[in-house]
Amino acid sequence: MEPVLQAAMAQFHRAADHLVLPDRHRALLTSFKTTYQTQFPVEMDDGSFRVFEGFRVIHNSARGPTKGGMRYSSRLTLDETRALAMWMTWKCAVVNVPFGGAKGGVRVDPLTMSNGELQNLTRRFTTEIIPIIGPDQDIPAPDMGTNPQVMAWMMDTYSMAKGYTIPAVVTGKPVSIGGSEGRYEATGRGLLYVLEEHLAAEGGIVGRSAAVQGFGNVGGVTSTLLQQAGAVVRYISDLEIALFHPEGIDATAAWMHVEAGGSLASWHAEHPNAAEPVAHEAVLEADVDVLVPAAVDSVITGQNADRIRARLVLEGANGPTTPEADDILDERGVTVIPDILANAGGVTVSYFEWVQARQYVQWTEGQVNAELRRLMVSAYRNVVARCPIGSRGVCSQREAAQWLAIERVVEAIDRRGIYP
Ligand code: NAD
Repeated sequence: MEPVLQAAMAQFHRAADHLVLPDRHRALLTSFKTTYQTQFPVEMDDGSFRVFEGFRVIHNSARGPTKGGMRYSSRLTLDETRALAMWMTWKCAVVNVPFGGAKGGVRVDPLTMSNGELQNLTRRFTTEIIPIIGPDQDIPAPDMGTNPQVMAWMMDTYSMAKGYTIPAVVTGKPVSIGGSEGRYEATGRGLLYVLEEHLAAEGGIVGRSAAVQGFGNVGGVTSTLLQQAGAVVRYISDLEIALFHPEGIDATAAWMHVEAGGSLASWHAEHPNAAEPVAHEAVLEADVDVLVPAAVDSVITGQNADRIRARLVLEGANGPTTPEADDILDERGVTVIPDILANAGGVTVSYFEWVQARQYVQWTEGQVNAELRRLMVSAYRNVVARCPIGSRGVCSQREAAQWLAIERVVEAIDRRGIYP
């Protein structure tokens, strides 16, 4: 078992021990309802074809149709997909949206593909998984390496196969074809709402310093919203470059540049005085109030957890902190707002998008954000009610979020019963 899946399992068992969960529930919740693995050819621009591997894993559907992103990454594995699917089950339960958990993707570096090749890959992969996805069955969304355009191709391919347009089969689509206002920013906005709630009793966000690792959908939007909320974003980074400015980086300008097709490195080249390049480790080990890991899993580990200087880790990525690191951070009194709570804004607005698509209605961005805030704040309060902030050595917010989620999933399993 790969470390990322070991981490997801260890988190589950720790929470299950606390809940004194019977073995039958443990067995069910550490297994995966459906594992779909496919190797398929894609026609490349030069007329040749290449074979790719793709996965879709459905962890548990007791609470409803399953929901989870599609990841395009050159290091994607089945175990990673399984861990992410399991986290989706807990995440949907923490924010109390009526979905189970799933995840999928293709092992590919999307940056090495042309637009046409990506479209061929997406349409062929979607065709392969048609038997298991559907608006009442399993509903993909964007994740690392995918975006609204990829979702549009998935929706179109599925709809063409069925013979009519089915917007609710994916979320994170462009607004022009049934996507939701506010979905693109939803994960970052959810992180902001959770942080605002967390800091409400401690003077708020204005003037707080932050470091954000990752500058894609989650990291870029979060950096921008933090800056707009009055925080000082001292560090931002992507895979290529890490940047620092003691008085804060204009993250909004950097993100506009990246969204327009540029890179963080080219933004820095055009504005050399806006920030200075630093080593990548400097971001995680930054002396700031809030650290937001928003790139990949397993970046805060047993090796570097004692060098984390932020007092608060707000998890934008899925699985950025390993169980060993969790223990070290807890001992050191560092609060971790866990992924299954902190970054649940994406799936929450995906739920709103699904509801809108099924009813053929369009909410305003104001409605979306107000409902998002309501659900995120409610989830945060429910978690903190189970484990108050500062319960060092007694419980963590990750454990509390897991308890809440597992209880809700087990309630659904027991109410439904086992059939046949
Ligand atoms: P993305 O592909 O849009 O961006 C990823 C960013 O991380 C890129 O800037 C990339 O250069 C950077 N990166 C990758 N490895 C890095 C490293 N080692 N150091 C620094 N930067 C690195 O992906 P995204 O959608 O922003 O997702 C980021 C994370 O958030 C993932 O863990 C994803 O599962 C999670 N997440 C995403 C959503 C969503 O709605 N997109 C929702 C919840 C959680």
